[in-house]
Amino acid sequence: MSDLLERLRGRGWRMTSQRRVVAEVLDGDHVHLTADEVHARAVERLPEISRATVYNALGELVSLGEVIEVSTDGRAKRYDPNAHHPHQHLVCSSCGTVRDVHPTGDPLADLPPTERFGFTVAAAEVTYRGLCPSCS
Ligand SMILES: [Zn+2]
Ligand SMILES: [Zn+2]
Repeated sequence: MSDLLERLRGRGWRMTSQRRVVAEVLDGDHVHLTADEVHARAVERLPEISRATVYNALGELVSLGEVIEVSTDGRAKRYDPNAHHPHQHLVCSSCGTVRDVHPTGDPLADLPPTERFGFTVAAAEVTYRGLCPSCS
């Protein structure tokens, strides 16, 4: 469900026209954009928006916990508005398409105690890789 704007309104995030555009660009399902991609799309709607404004807004959204940072390909971090529904990622090794996926098991619970080395384990990230239908 694409509800980032609504969540931000509910949290009283100061909504200037520039910040609104950043939130609108990120709103939606299966959105995993790099900061530069967010900036490029924001400029289409609001030509004067600066890269610094976009980066600052992204940082705030991450601090609020309404957007999560994911690095699926070892390159630029991507920003994902699907912050409240635990999910993993399916990534095309060729074109980089990213989908949100929900494994039937719990990756966190799947790590046996003997493999935890005394750690208190808080989170698990799994990236499934392969070729999407257009690339295979
Ligand atoms: Zn692909
Ligand atoms: Zn995601």
